[in-house]
Amino acid sequence: MTPRSPIVGAVELGGTKIIAAVGSGPGAGILARERFTTGDDPAQVLAQVTSWMQDASHRVGQVMAIGIASFGPLDLDPSSPTHGFITTTPKRGWAGTDLLAPFRHAFPSLPIALETDVNGAAIGECRWGAAQGLEDFIYVTVGTGIGGGAIVCGKPVHGLVHPEMGHIPMPRAEGDRFAGACAIHGRCWEGLCAGPAITARAGRPAEDLAADDPTWEAVTQSMGHALATMTLMLSPRRIIIGGSVRKAGQLGEAAFFDRCRLHLKAALAGYVDSPALRDEGLRSFVVPPMLGDDAGLCGAIALAQDS
Ligand code: ZN
Repeated sequence: MTPRSPIVGAVELGGTKIIAAVGSGPGAGILARERFTTGDDPAQVLAQVTSWMQDASHRVGQVMAIGIASFGPLDLDPSSPTHGFITTTPKRGWAGTDLLAPFRHAFPSLPIALETDVNGAAIGECRWGAAQGLEDFIYVTVGTGIGGGAIVCGKPVHGLVHPEMGHIPMPRAEGDRFAGACAIHGRCWEGLCAGPAITARAGRPAEDLAADDPTWEAVTQSMGHALATMTLMLSPRRIIIGGSVRKAGQLGEAAFFDRCRLHLKAALAGYVDSPALRDEGLRSFVVPPMLGDDAGLCGAIALAQDS
């Protein structure tokens, strides 16, 4: 253990599963990890997580801090009386959950850092992955839902609350009658491109779709529109797309990214001029996460180390 990479506790809290780890970095740096089902009883599962972490801390190395990257929406305002709470989630049992209290109780002397799951993943990719050396980039996850974290001038954007990029409104392609799958907006980005939207449009899940299924064209076209919006709004130097949808069933990840890049280029129509947005540049402008499915967990490690 070097002073630059202390052993910490990390938690990635998702809508379906919670991953907890003790470690100092990606790969072999993760010394112990455990998976929990999120369920609808936060008090119970958070007690299991903190108890596992106390035990793991004794077994593999004393943790110096805790980092949590969680689904939201979250209250990230340190001056708010509900700082560290999950606020309005539709996920049963979790609205109004204080995420910090169980960890403060279990580890009373340790610093505890909290971020959104996507900002966490962005921080992980910045420290060890596809965004090393970049101060302005976006991490998007396209899975059960869609969320995006923006790093601007080296810091995650919180602003009023925190960005909710998955719910930006989307244009309707000519002839497309699909109503969209977002319970709130119908045809927002999440309502068109998240896993449940693909299942609703195609009648079967993304992983079972043939490479030539027309759903892929609709999905990657919408992805291109959304990526163009990100590019126009924040001028990122790179956009990382994580989550399960990018694996794209029988179409495959490489073809999915190629199509997203082409539709991004078409949507921008040459207006934003940069080598990064021309053919070769696009290959490193829109990329998968280098840390794979561990981006969020590694981000939680980085958050804890920075605290
Ligand atoms: Zn929506």
